[in-house]
Amino acid sequence: MTSHDDKKALGVLLELTRVLAEETVLERSLQAITDAAMELFPGFHCSVRMFDEKRAQLLSGARSGSGQEHRPITFRCGEGVVGWVAEHNEVAHIDDVHGDPRFVPAQKQGFAIGSIIALPLPSASEVVGVLAVTAPEAGAFQDADEMLVRLLANCVVPSLERARLERLAVTDHNTLAFNQRALWPRLTEELERARLYGAGLSVLLMDLDRFKRVNDTFGHAAGDGVLRIFADRVREEVRRPDVLVRRGGEEFVLIMPHTDRDQAAIVAERIRQVVAGTPLNVGKGVLIPQTVSIGIATWDGKETAQELEGRADKAMYAAKEAGRNLVVASASPTPTPSPTSSSSSSP
Ligand code: GH3
Ligand code: MG
Ligand code: MG
Repeated sequence: MTSHDDKKALGVLLELTRVLAEETVLERSLQAITDAAMELFPGFHCSVRMFDEKRAQLLSGARSGSGQEHRPITFRCGEGVVGWVAEHNEVAHIDDVHGDPRFVPAQKQGFAIGSIIALPLPSASEVVGVLAVTAPEAGAFQDADEMLVRLLANCVVPSLERARLERLAVTDHNTLAFNQRALWPRLTEELERARLYGAGLSVLLMDLDRFKRVNDTFGHAAGDGVLRIFADRVREEVRRPDVLVRRGGEEFVLIMPHTDRDQAAIVAERIRQVVAGTPLNVGKGVLIPQTVSIGIATWDGKETAQELEGRADKAMYAAKEAGRNLVVASASPTPTPSPTSSSSSSP
């Protein structure tokens, strides 16, 4: 056992469970847990890594201890000790990492690793992340320490479960995009962030062309397949911070933080081409040609979320009127002194 005594450990865990019972933001819960680990294991390092949506990479969720000045390292599933734990859903307690083939030494980590305990974090019976505590020297962890780390991992589970249920409530189950319930909160949130950082923000309004015909010709199940593949193709073309929302039916909103009008136009055109380029394979040899009309609006620094989305909507309808399978960018609603000019954009 390391230098902490049992009473101190109990006090830390008591306080942690109190904090977690009240905390509703997952990131803050994870931080409370890695911070508690540092009180239990001073001088060590603790991290929580969570899978990305594709379950391909383990991204930093929270970390405490030395090395904070360095960028957190991302592991692929199966890579390094952390990746091994995620892939096998098993605990790794390694007394000397340098004798273990699973360990991948990292450059610029900012702290030494001699021994490690890493545990899978489950949610709805699948691994969603990994908690790891590392010590600079070999053989630093006793059996009681492993029990403490297991206890910390157990503390993460209710927070993960709450986050999973919250995400489920705002997820469209067919496309796994956000659903309509998330539209205004997410757009308002991104708008506030853009205001705070003085960053650009663009929105795409994407409406599948003649989608009713798809249902009429191929059936509703095939239509659902088209919606799913469309969402997949969009996700392939966008960056991690971009937020895809199914506004309803065959209409999607893509919220693009840190994106100006020209960048948004490039992405929109890429999406248009990638949808029109290859018919969508909905299975059983059924290939469905599909196109999409896209309206772009870039935040003018003043308008509300509703006004911004309204401009993207208008631009999308202009794309429909101009023949479909097109991208139209809304002009910025520049205020003019003339009382006769419209305050809204002409797409
Ligand atoms: P336009 O090019 O003008 O957009 O024509 P459209 O046919 O795409 O537009 P319209 O709004 O007339 O039709 C949308 C269709 O989308 C009608 C509805 O049955 C279908 N739809 C809405 N939600 C779903 C869904 O979840 N699954 C399937 N399969 N179809 C859906
Ligand atoms: Mg529509
Ligand atoms: Mg449509």
